[in-house]
Amino acid sequence: MELIDILQALNQTHGPSGDEGGVREKIEELAKPYGDEVITDTLGNLIVRKKGEGPLVMLAAHMDAIGFIVTHIEKEGFLRAGRLGGISPKEAAYSAVRFKNGVKGVFVPEEKADFGKLKLDECFIDIGARDGEEAKKLVQVGDTCVYDVPIRVQGSRVTGPYLDDRLACAVLLRTLEQIRKPACNLCMVFTVQEEVGLRGARTASWWVEPDIGIAVDVTDVDDTPGSEKNGTTRLGAGAAVKVMDSSVICHPEVVAKLEETAQARNIPVQRDILRGGGTDAGAIQNTRCGVKTGGVSIPCRYIHTPAETADLEDAQACVQLLAAFVQR
Ligand SMILES: [Zn+2]
Repeated sequence: MELIDILQALNQTHGPSGDEGGVREKIEELAKPYGDEVITDTLGNLIVRKKGEGPLVMLAAHMDAIGFIVTHIEKEGFLRAGRLGGISPKEAAYSAVRFKNGVKGVFVPEEKADFGKLKLDECFIDIGARDGEEAKKLVQVGDTCVYDVPIRVQGSRVTGPYLDDRLACAVLLRTLEQIRKPACNLCMVFTVQEEVGLRGARTASWWVEPDIGIAVDVTDVDDTPGSEKNGTTRLGAGAAVKVMDSSVICHPEVVAKLEETAQARNIPVQRDILRGGGTDAGAIQNTRCGVKTGGVSIPCRYIHTPAETADLEDAQACVQLLAAFVQR
Protein backbone atom coordinates (compact mmCIF):
# COMPACT_ATOMS: atom_id res chain seq x y z
CA MET A 1 0.00 0.00 0.00
CA GLU A 2 1.26 3.50 -0.81
CA LEU A 3 2.14 5.82 2.08
CA ILE A 4 -0.75 8.16 1.32
CA ASP A 5 -3.28 5.31 1.22
CA ILE A 6 -2.09 4.06 4.61
CA LEU A 7 -2.34 7.60 5.98
CA GLN A 8 -5.87 7.99 4.61
CA ALA A 9 -6.90 4.70 6.20
CA LEU A 10 -5.43 5.65 9.58
CA ASN A 11 -7.14 9.06 9.47
CA GLN A 12 -10.54 7.34 9.48
CA THR A 13 -9.79 5.57 12.77
CA HIS A 14 -10.26 6.67 16.37
CA GLY A 15 -7.12 6.88 18.49
CA PRO A 16 -6.64 9.73 20.95
CA SER A 17 -4.17 9.07 23.80
CA GLY A 18 -5.49 6.29 26.03
CA ASP A 19 -8.17 5.17 23.58
CA GLU A 20 -6.08 3.79 20.70
CA GLY A 21 -8.09 0.61 20.00
CA GLY A 22 -9.40 1.79 16.62
CA VAL A 23 -6.09 2.85 15.16
CA ARG A 24 -4.33 -0.21 16.60
CA GLU A 25 -6.79 -2.56 14.92
CA LYS A 26 -6.10 -0.97 11.52
CA ILE A 27 -2.31 -1.03 11.97
CA GLU A 28 -2.45 -4.65 13.09
CA GLU A 29 -4.42 -5.59 9.98
CA LEU A 30 -1.83 -3.86 7.75
CA ALA A 31 1.23 -5.23 9.61
CA LYS A 32 0.13 -8.83 10.04
CA PRO A 33 1.06 -10.16 6.57
CA TYR A 34 4.64 -8.89 6.97
CA GLY A 35 5.55 -9.64 10.61
CA ASP A 36 6.59 -12.95 12.20
CA GLU A 37 4.71 -12.14 15.39
CA VAL A 38 2.26 -9.38 16.34
CA ILE A 39 1.28 -8.76 19.95
CA THR A 40 -0.51 -6.11 21.98
CA ASP A 41 1.07 -5.47 25.38
CA THR A 42 -0.58 -4.48 28.66
CA LEU A 43 -0.84 -0.73 27.94
CA GLY A 44 -1.95 -1.33 24.36
CA ASN A 45 1.28 -0.90 22.39
CA LEU A 46 1.34 -2.96 19.21
CA ILE A 47 4.62 -4.86 18.84
CA VAL A 48 5.53 -6.41 15.47
CA ARG A 49 8.56 -8.69 15.34
CA LYS A 50 10.57 -9.66 12.29
CA LYS A 51 13.33 -12.10 13.05
CA GLY A 52 16.86 -11.79 11.79
CA GLU A 53 20.46 -12.23 12.96
CA GLY A 54 22.13 -9.58 15.04
CA PRO A 55 21.26 -6.90 17.58
CA LEU A 56 17.71 -6.16 18.61
CA VAL A 57 16.57 -2.96 16.93
CA MET A 58 13.36 -1.26 18.02
CA LEU A 59 11.68 1.22 15.70
CA ALA A 60 8.89 3.15 17.41
CA ALA A 61 6.15 5.46 16.16
CA HIS A 62 3.28 6.60 18.34
CA MET A 63 -0.20 5.81 17.12
CA ASP A 64 -2.05 8.02 19.60
CA ALA A 65 -3.21 11.49 18.66
CA ILE A 66 -4.05 14.64 20.58
CA GLY A 67 -7.75 15.15 21.28
CA PHE A 68 -10.44 16.14 23.75
CA ILE A 69 -12.17 14.31 26.62
CA VAL A 70 -15.65 15.32 27.78
CA THR A 71 -15.69 16.61 31.36
CA HIS A 72 -19.17 18.21 31.64
CA ILE A 73 -22.45 18.16 29.79
CA GLU A 74 -24.34 21.41 30.27
CA LYS A 75 -28.11 21.53 30.61
CA GLU A 76 -28.33 23.42 27.32
CA GLY A 77 -26.64 20.46 25.60
CA PHE A 78 -23.14 21.83 25.08
CA LEU A 79 -20.06 19.85 26.15
CA ARG A 80 -17.03 21.06 28.06
CA ALA A 81 -13.79 19.21 27.49
CA GLY A 82 -10.32 18.59 28.85
CA ARG A 83 -7.27 18.06 26.70
CA LEU A 84 -5.45 14.88 25.77
CA GLY A 85 -1.95 16.04 24.90
CA GLY A 86 -0.77 19.37 23.57
CA ILE A 87 -3.93 20.70 21.99
CA SER A 88 -4.22 24.47 21.71
CA PRO A 89 -7.76 25.93 21.89
CA LYS A 90 -6.80 28.78 19.58
CA GLU A 91 -5.57 26.37 16.92
CA ALA A 92 -8.59 24.11 17.37
CA ALA A 93 -11.22 26.88 17.17
CA TYR A 94 -14.14 26.04 14.88
CA SER A 95 -12.74 22.65 13.91
CA ALA A 96 -15.04 19.71 13.26
CA VAL A 97 -14.61 16.84 15.72
CA ARG A 98 -15.94 13.28 15.91
CA PHE A 99 -16.48 10.78 18.72
CA LYS A 100 -15.75 7.06 18.59
CA ASN A 101 -19.45 6.28 18.14
CA GLY A 102 -19.60 8.57 15.10
CA VAL A 103 -21.26 11.57 16.77
CA LYS A 104 -19.93 14.77 15.22
CA GLY A 105 -19.50 18.23 16.65
CA VAL A 106 -17.69 21.55 16.38
CA PHE A 107 -15.17 22.97 18.87
CA VAL A 108 -16.18 26.59 19.52
CA PRO A 109 -14.77 29.48 21.61
CA GLU A 110 -17.22 31.51 23.71
CA GLU A 111 -18.04 34.85 22.10
CA LYS A 112 -16.78 36.88 25.08
CA ALA A 113 -13.39 35.12 25.20
CA ASP A 114 -10.19 36.99 24.38
CA PHE A 115 -9.09 34.99 21.35
CA GLY A 116 -5.42 35.92 21.78
CA LYS A 117 -5.37 34.29 25.24
CA LEU A 118 -8.02 31.69 24.61
CA LYS A 119 -8.33 29.07 27.37
CA LEU A 120 -9.85 25.62 27.04
CA ASP A 121 -12.39 26.50 29.76
CA GLU A 122 -13.70 29.26 27.50
CA CYS A 123 -14.56 26.79 24.74
CA PHE A 124 -17.27 24.19 24.25
CA ILE A 125 -18.24 21.44 21.85
CA ASP A 126 -21.54 21.78 20.00
CA ILE A 127 -22.93 18.38 18.96
CA GLY A 128 -26.25 19.83 17.87
CA ALA A 129 -28.16 18.54 20.89
CA ARG A 130 -31.32 20.47 21.88
CA ASP A 131 -30.60 20.09 25.60
CA GLY A 132 -28.55 18.16 28.16
CA GLU A 133 -30.88 15.16 28.06
CA GLU A 134 -30.46 14.77 24.33
CA ALA A 135 -26.69 15.33 24.60
CA LYS A 136 -26.38 12.56 27.22
CA LYS A 137 -27.98 10.10 24.81
CA LEU A 138 -25.16 10.81 22.35
CA VAL A 139 -22.09 11.31 24.51
CA GLN A 140 -21.10 10.82 28.14
CA VAL A 141 -18.47 12.27 30.45
CA GLY A 142 -15.18 10.52 29.69
CA ASP A 143 -15.84 10.05 25.97
CA THR A 144 -13.08 11.26 23.68
CA CYS A 145 -13.17 13.06 20.35
CA VAL A 146 -10.65 13.91 17.64
CA TYR A 147 -10.43 16.26 14.67
CA ASP A 148 -12.78 15.17 11.90
CA VAL A 149 -10.74 16.70 9.10
CA PRO A 150 -9.81 14.99 5.82
CA ILE A 151 -6.30 14.51 4.44
CA ARG A 152 -5.56 16.31 1.21
CA VAL A 153 -2.65 16.10 -1.18
CA GLN A 154 -1.25 18.70 -3.54
CA GLY A 155 1.84 17.69 -5.48
CA SER A 156 4.06 15.96 -2.94
CA ARG A 157 2.66 17.98 -0.02
CA VAL A 158 0.12 16.49 2.34
CA THR A 159 -2.08 18.34 4.84
CA GLY A 160 -4.20 16.81 7.56
CA PRO A 161 -4.84 16.64 11.29
CA TYR A 162 -2.74 13.72 12.51
CA LEU A 163 0.44 13.51 10.48
CA ASP A 164 1.85 13.51 14.04
CA ASP A 165 2.29 10.65 14.19
CA ARG A 166 0.20 8.65 11.76
CA LEU A 167 2.53 9.62 8.91
CA ALA A 168 5.36 7.95 10.87
CA CYS A 169 3.14 4.90 11.49
CA ALA A 170 2.65 4.77 7.71
CA VAL A 171 6.44 5.07 7.25
CA LEU A 172 7.00 2.06 9.56
CA LEU A 173 4.34 0.01 7.79
CA ARG A 174 5.87 0.81 4.37
CA THR A 175 9.33 -0.06 5.73
CA LEU A 176 8.02 -3.38 7.04
CA GLU A 177 6.58 -4.21 3.61
CA GLN A 178 9.93 -3.56 1.95
CA ILE A 179 12.28 -5.45 4.24
CA ARG A 180 13.46 -8.70 2.73
CA LYS A 181 16.07 -9.87 5.22
CA PRO A 182 16.76 -7.78 8.32
CA ALA A 183 20.36 -7.72 9.50
CA CYS A 184 19.00 -7.50 13.04
CA ASN A 185 16.19 -8.76 15.20
CA LEU A 186 13.60 -6.18 14.35
CA CYS A 187 10.78 -4.95 16.56
CA MET A 188 8.43 -2.29 15.26
CA VAL A 189 6.41 -0.74 18.04
CA PHE A 190 3.32 1.39 17.54
CA THR A 191 3.15 3.10 20.91
CA VAL A 192 0.27 4.50 22.97
CA GLN A 193 0.04 7.66 25.08
CA GLU A 194 3.06 9.47 23.65
CA GLU A 195 1.23 12.78 23.62
CA VAL A 196 0.59 12.62 27.37
CA GLY A 197 4.19 11.84 28.39
CA LEU A 198 5.82 9.02 26.37
CA ARG A 199 4.01 6.47 28.53
CA GLY A 200 3.61 3.59 26.08
CA ALA A 201 7.19 3.72 24.81
CA ARG A 202 8.45 3.43 28.39
CA THR A 203 6.77 0.09 29.08
CA ALA A 204 7.18 -1.23 25.53
CA SER A 205 10.94 -0.81 25.62
CA TRP A 206 11.09 -2.78 28.89
CA TRP A 207 9.20 -5.54 27.15
CA VAL A 208 11.29 -5.45 23.99
CA GLU A 209 14.73 -4.88 25.63
CA PRO A 210 16.31 -3.34 22.51
CA ASP A 211 20.02 -2.86 21.88
CA ILE A 212 19.26 0.07 19.59
CA GLY A 213 16.14 2.24 19.63
CA ILE A 214 14.92 4.64 16.97
CA ALA A 215 11.86 6.84 17.41
CA VAL A 216 10.14 7.93 14.22
CA ASP A 217 8.11 11.09 14.60
CA VAL A 218 7.43 14.44 13.01
CA THR A 219 9.67 17.38 13.82
CA ASP A 220 9.46 21.15 13.73
CA VAL A 221 10.64 23.14 10.72
CA ASP A 222 12.45 26.39 10.19
CA ASP A 223 11.06 27.26 6.78
CA THR A 224 7.92 29.35 7.27
CA PRO A 225 7.52 33.15 7.47
CA GLY A 226 8.33 34.44 10.97
CA SER A 227 9.84 31.10 12.03
CA GLU A 228 10.85 31.08 15.69
CA LYS A 229 13.60 28.54 14.92
CA ASN A 230 12.19 25.87 17.20
CA GLY A 231 13.32 23.33 14.65
CA THR A 232 16.17 23.02 12.18
CA THR A 233 14.56 21.17 9.28
CA ARG A 234 12.96 22.15 5.98
CA LEU A 235 10.15 20.50 4.07
CA GLY A 236 11.40 18.64 1.01
CA ALA A 237 15.04 18.43 2.12
CA GLY A 238 14.86 14.74 3.05
CA ALA A 239 14.63 12.50 6.09
CA ALA A 240 15.76 14.22 9.28
CA VAL A 241 18.30 12.46 11.47
CA LYS A 242 17.66 13.49 15.04
CA VAL A 243 20.56 14.88 17.03
CA MET A 244 18.53 16.18 19.95
CA ASP A 245 15.11 17.17 21.25
CA SER A 246 13.97 18.20 24.72
CA SER A 247 13.67 14.55 25.83
CA VAL A 248 16.87 13.09 24.39
CA ILE A 249 20.41 13.66 23.18
CA CYS A 250 20.88 10.93 20.61
CA HIS A 251 23.71 8.44 20.89
CA PRO A 252 26.51 9.63 18.56
CA GLU A 253 27.00 6.11 17.14
CA VAL A 254 23.37 5.92 16.11
CA VAL A 255 23.47 9.38 14.50
CA ALA A 256 26.65 8.42 12.63
CA LYS A 257 25.29 5.03 11.47
CA LEU A 258 22.11 6.65 10.14
CA GLU A 259 24.09 9.32 8.29
CA GLU A 260 26.54 6.78 6.86
CA THR A 261 23.65 4.63 5.68
CA ALA A 262 22.03 7.62 3.98
CA GLN A 263 25.27 8.58 2.29
CA ALA A 264 25.94 5.05 1.06
CA ARG A 265 22.47 4.81 -0.48
CA ASN A 266 22.19 8.40 -1.72
CA ILE A 267 19.19 9.11 0.48
CA PRO A 268 18.62 12.84 1.16
CA VAL A 269 19.00 13.64 4.87
CA GLN A 270 19.19 16.71 7.08
CA ARG A 271 19.89 17.14 10.78
CA ASP A 272 17.07 17.51 13.29
CA ILE A 273 17.25 19.48 16.50
CA LEU A 274 13.82 20.05 18.02
CA ARG A 275 14.02 22.69 20.73
CA GLY A 276 10.51 22.46 22.15
CA GLY A 277 9.04 18.99 22.51
CA GLY A 278 10.10 15.46 23.21
CA THR A 279 9.63 12.10 21.50
CA ASP A 280 9.47 8.43 22.39
CA ALA A 281 13.27 8.45 21.98
CA GLY A 282 13.52 10.02 25.46
CA ALA A 283 11.65 7.13 27.09
CA ILE A 284 13.44 4.41 25.11
CA GLN A 285 16.90 5.74 25.97
CA ASN A 286 16.31 5.49 29.73
CA THR A 287 15.10 1.90 29.77
CA ARG A 288 16.85 -0.65 32.01
CA CYS A 289 20.61 0.03 31.78
CA GLY A 290 20.16 2.42 28.86
CA VAL A 291 19.61 1.96 25.13
CA LYS A 292 21.61 3.43 22.25
CA THR A 293 18.92 5.68 20.88
CA GLY A 294 18.33 7.90 17.89
CA GLY A 295 15.50 9.29 15.83
CA VAL A 296 14.37 9.58 12.24
CA SER A 297 12.02 12.51 11.78
CA ILE A 298 9.62 13.79 9.17
CA PRO A 299 9.72 17.61 8.89
CA CYS A 300 6.22 18.97 9.53
CA ARG A 301 4.65 22.42 9.59
CA TYR A 302 1.89 23.53 11.99
CA ILE A 303 2.30 20.56 14.33
CA HIS A 304 -0.70 19.87 16.60
CA THR A 305 -3.09 21.92 14.43
CA PRO A 306 -5.75 20.34 12.19
CA ALA A 307 -3.62 21.37 9.18
CA GLU A 308 -0.28 19.68 9.79
CA THR A 309 1.66 19.78 6.53
CA ALA A 310 4.51 17.56 5.37
CA ASP A 311 6.20 16.43 2.17
CA LEU A 312 5.58 12.84 1.12
CA GLU A 313 9.03 12.69 -0.46
CA ASP A 314 10.60 13.30 2.96
CA ALA A 315 8.46 10.49 4.37
CA GLN A 316 9.57 8.28 1.48
CA ALA A 317 13.21 9.10 2.27
CA CYS A 318 12.53 7.98 5.87
CA VAL A 319 11.24 4.63 4.54
CA GLN A 320 14.39 4.18 2.45
CA LEU A 321 16.67 5.16 5.31
CA LEU A 322 15.00 2.86 7.86
CA ALA A 323 14.83 -0.07 5.44
CA ALA A 324 18.52 0.36 4.58
CA PHE A 325 19.49 0.78 8.25
CA VAL A 326 17.87 -2.43 9.43
CA GLN A 327 19.23 -4.46 6.50
CA ARG A 328 22.78 -3.26 6.90
ZN1 LIG B 1 4.46 13.01 17.73
